Amino acid sequence: MMSNKTRVRFAPSPTGPLHIGGVRTALYNYLFTKQQGGDFILRIEDTDSARFVPGAEEYIQEAFDWLGLPFDESPAKGGEFGPYRQSERKDIYKKYVDELLEKELAYIAFDTPEELDAKRNETANFQYDASTRLQMRNSLTLPTEEVKKLIDSGEQYVVRIKIEPNIDITVNDLIRGEVVINSSVLDDKVIYKSSDQLPTYHLANVVDDHLMQITHVIRGEEWLPSAPLHVWLYRSFDWENTMPQFAHLPLILKPEGNGKLSKRDGDRLGFPVFPLEWRDPQSSEISSGYRESGYLPQAVVNFLALLGWNPGTEQEIFSLDELVQAFSFDRCSKSGAKFDFEKAKWFNHKYIQETSDDVLAEMLEPVLSEKNISCEKDYTAKVIGLVKERVNFVKELWDQASFFFVAPTSYDEKTVRKRWKPETPEQLSELIYVLQSIDDFSSENQEKAVKQWIEDRNYHLGNIMNAFRLAVVGESKGPQMFDITALIGKQETIDRINRAIKEISL
Ligand code: GLU
Repeated sequence: MMSNKTRVRFAPSPTGPLHIGGVRTALYNYLFTKQQGGDFILRIEDTDSARFVPGAEEYIQEAFDWLGLPFDESPAKGGEFGPYRQSERKDIYKKYVDELLEKELAYIAFDTPEELDAKRNETANFQYDASTRLQMRNSLTLPTEEVKKLIDSGEQYVVRIKIEPNIDITVNDLIRGEVVINSSVLDDKVIYKSSDQLPTYHLANVVDDHLMQITHVIRGEEWLPSAPLHVWLYRSFDWENTMPQFAHLPLILKPEGNGKLSKRDGDRLGFPVFPLEWRDPQSSEISSGYRESGYLPQAVVNFLALLGWNPGTEQEIFSLDELVQAFSFDRCSKSGAKFDFEKAKWFNHKYIQETSDDVLAEMLEPVLSEKNISCEKDYTAKVIGLVKERVNFVKELWDQASFFFVAPTSYDEKTVRKRWKPETPEQLSELIYVLQSIDDFSSENQEKAVKQWIEDRNYHLGNIMNAFRLAVVGESKGPQMFDITALIGKQETIDRINRAIKEISL
Protein backbone atom coordinates (compact mmCIF):
# COMPACT_ATOMS: atom_id res chain seq x y z
CA MET A 1 0.00 0.00 0.00
CA MET A 2 1.20 3.42 -0.88
CA SER A 3 1.09 5.79 2.05
CA ASN A 4 -0.38 9.25 1.64
CA LYS A 5 2.65 10.88 3.05
CA THR A 6 4.51 13.16 0.67
CA ARG A 7 7.93 11.76 -0.06
CA VAL A 8 10.47 13.52 -2.26
CA ARG A 9 14.05 12.72 -2.99
CA PHE A 10 17.11 14.59 -4.08
CA ALA A 11 19.04 12.19 -6.26
CA PRO A 12 22.46 13.57 -7.20
CA SER A 13 25.14 11.60 -9.00
CA PRO A 14 28.44 11.91 -7.13
CA THR A 15 30.42 13.09 -10.14
CA GLY A 16 31.97 16.20 -8.58
CA PRO A 17 30.94 19.18 -6.49
CA LEU A 18 27.26 19.96 -6.41
CA HIS A 19 26.34 22.81 -8.76
CA ILE A 20 24.26 25.62 -7.27
CA GLY A 21 21.43 24.55 -9.61
CA GLY A 22 21.40 21.18 -7.87
CA VAL A 23 21.19 22.93 -4.53
CA ARG A 24 18.15 24.85 -5.76
CA THR A 25 16.52 21.60 -6.93
CA ALA A 26 17.06 20.11 -3.49
CA LEU A 27 15.75 23.26 -1.83
CA TYR A 28 12.50 23.20 -3.82
CA ASN A 29 12.10 19.53 -2.90
CA TYR A 30 12.61 20.45 0.74
CA LEU A 31 10.22 23.41 0.71
CA PHE A 32 7.48 21.45 -0.98
CA THR A 33 7.69 18.33 1.15
CA LYS A 34 7.95 20.23 4.44
CA GLN A 35 4.90 22.27 3.48
CA GLN A 36 3.07 18.95 3.09
CA GLY A 37 4.52 17.53 6.30
CA GLY A 38 6.46 15.02 4.19
CA ASP A 39 9.87 13.42 3.99
CA PHE A 40 13.03 14.62 2.29
CA ILE A 41 15.30 11.83 1.10
CA LEU A 42 18.85 11.80 -0.21
CA ARG A 43 19.58 9.06 -2.72
CA ILE A 44 23.03 8.79 -4.22
CA GLU A 45 22.84 7.75 -7.87
CA ASP A 46 26.24 6.19 -8.31
CA THR A 47 25.58 3.52 -10.92
CA ASP A 48 27.91 5.11 -13.42
CA SER A 49 31.23 3.98 -11.99
CA ALA A 50 33.20 5.68 -14.77
CA ARG A 51 32.00 9.07 -13.57
CA PHE A 52 32.31 8.41 -9.84
CA VAL A 53 34.44 10.97 -8.02
CA PRO A 54 35.73 10.22 -4.51
CA GLY A 55 34.63 12.72 -1.91
CA ALA A 56 31.63 13.92 -3.89
CA GLU A 57 29.06 12.20 -1.66
CA GLU A 58 30.66 13.57 1.51
CA TYR A 59 30.70 16.99 -0.12
CA ILE A 60 26.96 16.78 -0.84
CA GLN A 61 26.16 15.77 2.73
CA GLU A 62 28.34 18.53 4.15
CA ALA A 63 26.74 21.12 1.88
CA PHE A 64 23.26 20.31 3.17
CA ASP A 65 24.46 20.27 6.77
CA TRP A 66 25.83 23.75 6.21
CA LEU A 67 22.70 24.99 4.46
CA GLY A 68 20.51 23.70 7.26
CA LEU A 69 18.37 21.43 5.07
CA PRO A 70 18.39 18.08 6.88
CA PHE A 71 17.40 14.83 5.20
CA ASP A 72 14.92 12.49 6.84
CA GLU A 73 16.51 9.48 5.13
CA SER A 74 19.97 9.31 3.59
CA PRO A 75 23.04 7.08 3.30
CA ALA A 76 24.38 8.65 6.50
CA LYS A 77 21.13 8.54 8.43
CA GLY A 78 19.63 5.35 7.05
CA GLY A 79 15.89 4.75 6.95
CA GLU A 80 13.22 2.17 6.16
CA PHE A 81 13.75 2.26 2.41
CA GLY A 82 17.52 1.85 2.29
CA PRO A 83 20.14 1.34 1.16
CA TYR A 84 20.25 4.88 -0.20
CA ARG A 85 23.25 4.40 -2.46
CA GLN A 86 22.34 2.81 -5.78
CA SER A 87 25.64 0.95 -5.95
CA GLU A 88 24.46 -0.93 -2.84
CA ARG A 89 21.15 -1.81 -4.48
CA LYS A 90 22.66 -3.77 -7.37
CA ASP A 91 20.77 -6.96 -6.55
CA ILE A 92 17.44 -5.19 -6.49
CA TYR A 93 17.44 -4.04 -10.10
CA LYS A 94 18.12 -7.26 -12.01
CA LYS A 95 14.65 -8.60 -11.36
CA TYR A 96 13.05 -5.52 -12.90
CA VAL A 97 15.25 -5.76 -15.96
CA ASP A 98 14.24 -9.41 -16.33
CA GLU A 99 10.60 -8.49 -15.95
CA LEU A 100 10.79 -6.13 -18.91
CA LEU A 101 12.66 -8.72 -20.97
CA GLU A 102 10.04 -11.34 -20.19
CA LYS A 103 7.23 -9.00 -21.15
CA GLU A 104 9.18 -8.27 -24.36
CA LEU A 105 9.18 -4.59 -23.48
CA ALA A 106 12.96 -4.61 -23.57
CA TYR A 107 15.59 -6.56 -25.51
CA ILE A 108 19.20 -7.58 -25.39
CA ALA A 109 21.68 -5.87 -27.71
CA PHE A 110 25.25 -6.95 -28.54
CA ASP A 111 26.36 -4.08 -30.74
CA THR A 112 29.88 -3.10 -29.79
CA PRO A 113 30.90 0.55 -29.43
CA GLU A 114 32.76 0.21 -32.76
CA GLU A 115 29.69 -1.13 -34.52
CA LEU A 116 27.60 1.69 -33.12
CA ASP A 117 30.17 4.26 -34.22
CA ALA A 118 30.25 2.79 -37.70
CA LYS A 119 26.49 3.06 -37.87
CA ARG A 120 26.57 6.66 -36.68
CA ASN A 121 29.12 7.52 -39.36
CA GLU A 122 27.08 5.84 -42.03
CA THR A 123 23.69 7.33 -41.08
CA ALA A 124 23.24 10.98 -40.21
CA ASN A 125 21.36 11.50 -36.93
CA PHE A 126 21.37 7.79 -36.27
CA GLN A 127 19.06 6.84 -33.42
CA TYR A 128 18.71 3.29 -32.03
CA ASP A 129 14.95 2.96 -32.25
CA ALA A 130 12.05 1.26 -34.03
CA SER A 131 13.28 2.48 -37.41
CA THR A 132 16.78 1.02 -37.03
CA ARG A 133 16.71 -1.72 -34.41
CA LEU A 134 16.06 -4.45 -36.94
CA GLN A 135 19.35 -3.66 -38.68
CA MET A 136 21.29 -4.19 -35.47
CA ARG A 137 22.75 -7.12 -33.55
CA ASN A 138 20.16 -7.81 -30.87
CA SER A 139 17.69 -10.34 -29.54
CA LEU A 140 15.08 -9.08 -31.99
CA THR A 141 17.23 -9.96 -34.99
CA LEU A 142 19.28 -12.94 -33.78
CA PRO A 143 17.85 -16.42 -33.20
CA THR A 144 17.14 -17.21 -29.54
CA GLU A 145 19.79 -19.95 -29.57
CA GLU A 146 22.39 -17.52 -30.79
CA VAL A 147 21.51 -14.98 -28.10
CA LYS A 148 21.85 -17.63 -25.43
CA LYS A 149 25.14 -18.82 -26.85
CA LEU A 150 26.59 -15.32 -26.93
CA ILE A 151 25.57 -14.63 -23.34
CA ASP A 152 26.91 -18.00 -22.17
CA SER A 153 30.19 -17.37 -23.90
CA GLY A 154 30.61 -14.18 -21.88
CA GLU A 155 29.89 -11.67 -24.62
CA GLN A 156 29.03 -8.27 -23.14
CA TYR A 157 25.57 -6.95 -23.84
CA VAL A 158 23.19 -4.23 -22.87
CA VAL A 159 19.45 -4.26 -22.35
CA ARG A 160 17.50 -1.63 -24.24
CA ILE A 161 13.98 -0.43 -23.60
CA LYS A 162 11.75 -1.09 -26.58
CA ILE A 163 9.99 2.16 -27.38
CA GLU A 164 7.06 1.62 -29.75
CA PRO A 165 6.84 4.41 -32.31
CA ASN A 166 4.08 6.92 -32.73
CA ILE A 167 2.47 6.68 -29.37
CA ASP A 168 1.49 9.82 -27.51
CA ILE A 169 3.00 10.00 -24.05
CA THR A 170 1.32 12.44 -21.71
CA VAL A 171 3.44 13.93 -18.98
CA ASN A 172 1.63 15.83 -16.28
CA ASP A 173 4.05 18.34 -14.95
CA LEU A 174 3.27 20.55 -11.98
CA ILE A 175 5.09 23.46 -13.61
CA ARG A 176 4.56 22.92 -17.33
CA GLY A 177 1.10 21.43 -17.17
CA GLU A 178 0.08 18.58 -19.45
CA VAL A 179 2.64 17.98 -22.17
CA VAL A 180 2.17 15.38 -24.88
CA ILE A 181 5.26 13.93 -26.48
CA ASN A 182 5.35 11.47 -29.33
CA SER A 183 7.31 8.34 -28.52
CA SER A 184 9.11 8.53 -31.87
CA VAL A 185 11.40 11.24 -30.53
CA LEU A 186 12.79 8.77 -27.99
CA ASP A 187 15.49 6.22 -28.65
CA ASP A 188 15.75 2.73 -27.21
CA LYS A 189 17.79 3.80 -24.20
CA VAL A 190 20.16 1.37 -22.55
CA ILE A 191 18.67 0.37 -19.20
CA TYR A 192 21.22 -2.25 -18.10
CA LYS A 193 24.83 -3.14 -18.83
CA SER A 194 26.24 -6.63 -18.39
CA SER A 195 29.77 -5.25 -18.08
CA ASP A 196 29.17 -3.86 -14.60
CA GLN A 197 25.91 -5.67 -13.92
CA LEU A 198 24.31 -2.38 -13.17
CA PRO A 199 21.23 -0.64 -14.48
CA THR A 200 21.67 2.78 -16.03
CA TYR A 201 20.36 5.97 -14.53
CA HIS A 202 16.89 5.82 -16.11
CA LEU A 203 15.98 2.35 -14.89
CA ALA A 204 17.50 2.68 -11.44
CA ASN A 205 15.89 6.07 -10.98
CA VAL A 206 12.39 4.85 -11.83
CA VAL A 207 12.67 1.58 -9.89
CA ASP A 208 13.96 3.37 -6.81
CA ASP A 209 11.34 6.08 -6.96
CA HIS A 210 8.77 3.32 -7.03
CA LEU A 211 10.30 1.23 -4.24
CA MET A 212 10.97 4.26 -2.05
CA GLN A 213 7.36 5.37 -2.51
CA ILE A 214 8.34 8.73 -3.90
CA THR A 215 5.25 10.85 -4.49
CA HIS A 216 6.80 13.82 -6.27
CA VAL A 217 9.79 13.95 -8.56
CA ILE A 218 11.05 17.51 -8.57
CA ARG A 219 14.08 17.74 -10.78
CA GLY A 220 16.16 20.35 -12.46
CA GLU A 221 17.30 18.04 -15.13
CA GLU A 222 16.59 18.45 -18.83
CA TRP A 223 13.05 17.54 -19.77
CA LEU A 224 14.02 15.23 -22.63
CA PRO A 225 14.37 12.33 -22.64
CA SER A 226 13.71 11.74 -18.94
CA ALA A 227 10.15 12.98 -18.58
CA PRO A 228 8.48 10.89 -21.32
CA LEU A 229 10.92 8.00 -20.96
CA HIS A 230 10.20 7.63 -17.26
CA VAL A 231 6.46 7.74 -17.89
CA TRP A 232 7.04 5.01 -20.47
CA LEU A 233 8.93 2.93 -17.93
CA TYR A 234 6.19 3.36 -15.32
CA ARG A 235 3.70 2.12 -17.88
CA SER A 236 5.91 -0.81 -18.81
CA PHE A 237 5.98 -1.90 -15.18
CA ASP A 238 2.25 -1.30 -14.74
CA TRP A 239 2.97 1.20 -12.03
CA GLU A 240 0.90 4.01 -13.47
CA ASN A 241 -1.31 4.18 -10.38
CA THR A 242 1.59 4.98 -8.13
CA MET A 243 3.49 7.12 -10.60
CA PRO A 244 4.88 10.21 -8.88
CA GLN A 245 3.86 13.68 -9.91
CA PHE A 246 6.58 15.41 -11.90
CA ALA A 247 7.89 18.94 -11.67
CA HIS A 248 10.69 19.98 -13.99
CA LEU A 249 12.35 23.17 -12.81
CA PRO A 250 13.54 25.90 -15.16
CA LEU A 251 17.25 26.20 -15.86
CA ILE A 252 19.47 28.65 -14.06
CA LEU A 253 20.89 30.83 -16.81
CA LYS A 254 24.10 32.81 -17.22
CA PRO A 255 23.84 36.40 -15.95
CA GLU A 256 23.56 37.51 -19.59
CA GLY A 257 20.70 35.10 -20.06
CA ASN A 258 22.12 33.08 -22.96
CA GLY A 259 22.54 29.49 -21.89
CA LYS A 260 22.98 27.49 -18.76
CA LEU A 261 25.05 28.86 -15.86
CA SER A 262 28.37 27.04 -15.72
CA LYS A 263 31.46 26.96 -13.57
CA ARG A 264 33.21 28.92 -16.29
CA ASP A 265 30.77 31.81 -15.87
CA GLY A 266 31.63 31.89 -12.19
CA ASP A 267 35.36 31.94 -12.96
CA ARG A 268 34.89 34.58 -15.63
CA LEU A 269 32.76 36.90 -13.52
CA GLY A 270 34.21 36.10 -10.11
CA PHE A 271 31.51 34.31 -8.17
CA PRO A 272 31.13 30.77 -6.83
CA VAL A 273 28.79 28.27 -8.45
CA PHE A 274 29.24 25.67 -5.70
CA PRO A 275 27.96 25.76 -2.12
CA LEU A 276 31.32 24.76 -0.59
CA GLU A 277 34.86 25.04 -1.82
CA TRP A 278 35.87 21.97 -3.83
CA ARG A 279 39.29 20.57 -4.47
CA ASP A 280 39.37 18.34 -7.49
CA PRO A 281 40.99 15.09 -6.33
CA GLN A 282 42.72 14.60 -9.67
CA SER A 283 43.88 18.01 -10.81
CA SER A 284 43.93 19.57 -7.30
CA GLU A 285 42.20 22.54 -8.86
CA ILE A 286 40.23 24.56 -6.31
CA SER A 287 36.77 25.88 -7.07
CA SER A 288 35.40 28.53 -4.76
CA GLY A 289 32.34 27.98 -2.62
CA TYR A 290 29.68 30.20 -1.12
CA ARG A 291 30.65 29.15 2.39
CA GLU A 292 34.32 30.03 1.99
CA SER A 293 33.44 33.26 0.18
CA GLY A 294 31.73 34.47 3.34
CA TYR A 295 28.08 33.80 2.61
CA LEU A 296 25.65 33.00 5.37
CA PRO A 297 23.76 29.80 4.59
CA GLN A 298 20.40 31.48 5.19
CA ALA A 299 21.26 34.12 2.59
CA VAL A 300 22.13 31.43 0.04
CA VAL A 301 18.87 29.59 0.73
CA ASN A 302 16.83 32.78 0.41
CA PHE A 303 18.59 33.82 -2.77
CA LEU A 304 18.20 30.42 -4.42
CA ALA A 305 14.55 30.14 -3.47
CA LEU A 306 13.83 33.22 -5.56
CA LEU A 307 15.76 31.95 -8.56
CA GLY A 308 12.84 30.45 -10.48
CA TRP A 309 10.06 31.00 -7.96
CA ASN A 310 8.41 34.20 -6.79
CA PRO A 311 5.95 34.81 -3.95
CA GLY A 312 3.71 37.09 -6.00
CA THR A 313 4.43 39.96 -3.63
CA GLU A 314 7.28 42.39 -3.16
CA GLN A 315 8.67 40.43 -0.22
CA GLU A 316 12.25 39.30 -0.75
CA ILE A 317 13.54 38.37 2.68
CA PHE A 318 12.18 35.01 3.81
CA SER A 319 13.18 32.75 6.64
CA LEU A 320 13.26 29.06 5.79
CA ASP A 321 9.94 28.59 7.59
CA GLU A 322 8.38 31.40 5.63
CA LEU A 323 9.63 29.85 2.40
CA VAL A 324 8.11 26.52 3.40
CA GLN A 325 4.77 28.27 3.94
CA ALA A 326 4.88 30.38 0.79
CA PHE A 327 6.30 27.98 -1.81
CA SER A 328 4.08 26.80 -4.64
CA PHE A 329 4.60 25.27 -8.07
CA ASP A 330 2.09 27.74 -9.53
CA ARG A 331 4.64 30.45 -8.98
CA CYS A 332 7.62 28.60 -10.45
CA SER A 333 8.54 30.05 -13.79
CA LYS A 334 8.55 27.92 -16.90
CA SER A 335 11.41 29.84 -18.46
CA GLY A 336 14.98 30.00 -17.22
CA ALA A 337 16.02 32.21 -14.33
CA LYS A 338 18.96 34.54 -14.89
CA PHE A 339 21.62 34.29 -12.24
CA ASP A 340 22.17 37.70 -10.62
CA PHE A 341 25.31 37.77 -8.54
CA GLU A 342 24.79 41.34 -7.29
CA LYS A 343 21.51 40.14 -5.85
CA ALA A 344 23.30 37.32 -4.04
CA LYS A 345 25.55 39.91 -2.39
CA TRP A 346 22.55 42.05 -1.54
CA PHE A 347 20.96 39.12 0.25
CA ASN A 348 24.11 38.44 2.18
CA HIS A 349 24.30 42.09 3.19
CA LYS A 350 20.72 41.93 4.46
CA TYR A 351 21.37 38.75 6.41
CA ILE A 352 24.48 40.20 8.01
CA GLN A 353 22.36 43.10 9.27
CA GLU A 354 19.91 40.56 10.73
CA THR A 355 22.62 38.53 12.42
CA SER A 356 23.38 39.52 16.00
CA ASP A 357 26.65 41.28 16.73
CA ASP A 358 27.61 38.47 19.11
CA VAL A 359 27.25 35.83 16.42
CA LEU A 360 29.19 37.95 13.94
CA ALA A 361 31.88 38.45 16.59
CA GLU A 362 32.24 34.65 16.77
CA MET A 363 32.57 34.53 13.01
CA LEU A 364 35.22 37.26 12.97
CA GLU A 365 37.22 35.52 15.68
CA PRO A 366 39.34 33.38 13.28
CA VAL A 367 40.31 36.50 11.33
CA LEU A 368 41.36 38.25 14.55
CA SER A 369 43.34 35.35 15.90
CA GLU A 370 45.11 34.98 12.57
CA LYS A 371 46.30 38.55 13.13
CA ASN A 372 47.26 37.75 16.72
CA ILE A 373 44.62 40.00 18.14
CA SER A 374 42.92 38.86 21.26
CA CYS A 375 40.22 40.95 22.79
CA GLU A 376 36.95 40.66 24.64
CA LYS A 377 34.07 39.26 22.58
CA ASP A 378 31.99 42.07 23.91
CA TYR A 379 34.33 44.69 22.48
CA THR A 380 34.39 42.95 19.08
CA ALA A 381 30.60 42.81 19.09
CA LYS A 382 30.35 46.54 19.78
CA VAL A 383 32.81 47.30 16.99
CA ILE A 384 30.78 45.14 14.61
CA GLY A 385 27.62 46.97 15.60
CA LEU A 386 29.22 50.20 14.38
CA VAL A 387 30.48 48.95 11.00
CA LYS A 388 28.32 46.09 9.84
CA GLU A 389 26.01 48.20 7.72
CA ARG A 390 28.99 48.85 5.48
CA VAL A 391 29.76 45.22 4.61
CA ASN A 392 28.40 42.44 2.40
CA PHE A 393 30.63 39.73 3.91
CA VAL A 394 31.97 38.88 7.34
CA LYS A 395 35.53 39.02 6.09
CA GLU A 396 35.02 42.64 5.01
CA LEU A 397 34.48 43.54 8.66
CA TRP A 398 38.23 43.56 9.20
CA ASP A 399 38.79 46.16 6.46
CA GLN A 400 36.13 48.35 7.96
CA ALA A 401 37.18 47.92 11.56
CA SER A 402 40.90 47.15 11.80
CA PHE A 403 41.64 50.52 13.45
CA PHE A 404 39.48 49.51 16.41
CA PHE A 405 41.99 46.76 17.13
CA VAL A 406 45.30 48.29 16.07
CA ALA A 407 46.35 51.94 16.11
CA PRO A 408 47.40 53.33 12.73
CA THR A 409 51.12 53.08 12.08
CA SER A 410 51.00 55.17 8.95
CA TYR A 411 48.76 57.92 7.65
CA ASP A 412 47.17 58.08 4.26
CA GLU A 413 49.28 60.55 2.30
CA LYS A 414 46.54 62.08 0.27
CA THR A 415 44.48 62.72 3.34
CA VAL A 416 47.46 64.21 5.13
CA ARG A 417 48.03 66.62 2.29
CA LYS A 418 44.42 67.63 2.26
CA ARG A 419 43.54 67.61 5.95
CA TRP A 420 46.69 68.38 7.89
CA LYS A 421 47.15 72.18 8.09
CA PRO A 422 50.02 74.12 9.66
CA GLU A 423 47.78 74.95 12.64
CA THR A 424 46.57 71.36 13.11
CA PRO A 425 49.20 70.16 15.67
CA GLU A 426 48.45 73.11 17.91
CA GLN A 427 44.70 72.60 17.67
CA LEU A 428 44.90 68.86 18.31
CA SER A 429 47.05 69.50 21.38
CA GLU A 430 44.26 71.67 22.67
CA LEU A 431 41.79 68.94 21.79
CA ILE A 432 43.73 66.56 24.01
CA TYR A 433 43.10 68.90 26.95
CA VAL A 434 39.43 69.04 26.12
CA LEU A 435 39.18 65.26 25.95
CA GLN A 436 41.14 64.80 29.11
CA SER A 437 38.64 66.91 31.00
CA ILE A 438 35.71 64.66 30.06
CA ASP A 439 34.92 62.16 32.82
CA ASP A 440 32.16 60.18 31.24
CA PHE A 441 33.73 59.46 27.84
CA SER A 442 30.46 58.64 26.10
CA SER A 443 29.94 59.59 22.47
CA GLU A 444 27.36 62.25 23.40
CA ASN A 445 29.48 63.83 26.11
CA GLN A 446 32.49 64.06 23.87
CA GLU A 447 30.49 65.55 21.06
CA LYS A 448 29.06 68.21 23.33
CA ALA A 449 32.42 69.18 24.86
CA VAL A 450 34.37 69.15 21.60
CA LYS A 451 31.79 71.13 19.69
CA GLN A 452 31.60 73.67 22.48
CA TRP A 453 35.37 74.09 22.38
CA ILE A 454 35.36 74.48 18.58
CA GLU A 455 32.65 77.10 18.85
CA ASP A 456 34.40 78.99 21.67
CA ARG A 457 37.63 79.13 19.73
CA ASN A 458 35.88 79.84 16.47
CA TYR A 459 37.67 76.96 14.77
CA HIS A 460 36.51 75.32 11.57
CA LEU A 461 34.47 72.26 12.54
CA GLY A 462 35.31 70.31 9.39
CA ASN A 463 39.04 70.98 9.61
CA ILE A 464 39.25 69.84 13.20
CA MET A 465 37.15 66.75 12.77
CA ASN A 466 38.98 65.63 9.64
CA ALA A 467 42.36 65.95 11.28
CA PHE A 468 41.03 64.21 14.39
CA ARG A 469 39.83 61.30 12.27
CA LEU A 470 43.12 61.10 10.41
CA ALA A 471 44.97 60.87 13.73
CA VAL A 472 42.72 58.17 15.19
CA VAL A 473 41.89 56.10 12.09
CA GLY A 474 44.85 56.80 9.79
CA GLU A 475 42.63 57.76 6.90
CA SER A 476 39.30 59.42 6.24
CA LYS A 477 36.91 56.53 6.78
CA GLY A 478 34.91 54.84 9.50
CA PRO A 479 31.73 55.41 11.45
CA GLN A 480 30.81 58.46 13.50
CA MET A 481 33.96 59.86 15.09
CA PHE A 482 32.84 60.00 18.69
CA ASP A 483 31.43 56.47 18.49
CA ILE A 484 34.94 55.33 17.58
CA THR A 485 36.67 57.21 20.37
CA ALA A 486 34.05 56.23 22.95
CA LEU A 487 34.80 52.61 22.15
CA ILE A 488 38.59 52.69 21.99
CA GLY A 489 38.60 54.84 25.16
CA LYS A 490 40.07 58.08 26.36
CA GLN A 491 43.67 57.05 26.85
CA GLU A 492 43.96 55.28 23.50
CA THR A 493 42.39 58.28 21.75
CA ILE A 494 44.83 60.68 23.34
CA ASP A 495 47.79 58.40 22.60
CA ARG A 496 46.80 58.25 18.97
CA ILE A 497 46.49 62.01 18.67
CA ASN A 498 49.89 62.49 20.31
CA ARG A 499 51.45 59.97 17.97
CA ALA A 500 49.94 61.65 14.91
CA ILE A 501 51.18 65.06 15.99
CA LYS A 502 54.66 63.62 16.33
CA GLU A 503 54.72 61.50 13.20
CA ILE A 504 52.86 63.67 10.71
CA SER A 505 54.58 66.90 11.65
CA LEU A 506 58.00 65.40 10.99
N1 GLU B 1 20.91 11.39 -10.82
C1 GLU B 1 20.11 12.28 -11.62
C2 GLU B 1 20.86 13.58 -11.79
O1 GLU B 1 21.71 13.89 -11.00
C3 GLU B 1 18.77 12.46 -10.94
C4 GLU B 1 17.75 13.25 -11.64
C5 GLU B 1 16.43 13.12 -10.91
O2 GLU B 1 16.22 13.87 -9.95
O3 GLU B 1 15.65 12.24 -11.27
O4 GLU B 1 20.63 14.29 -12.74
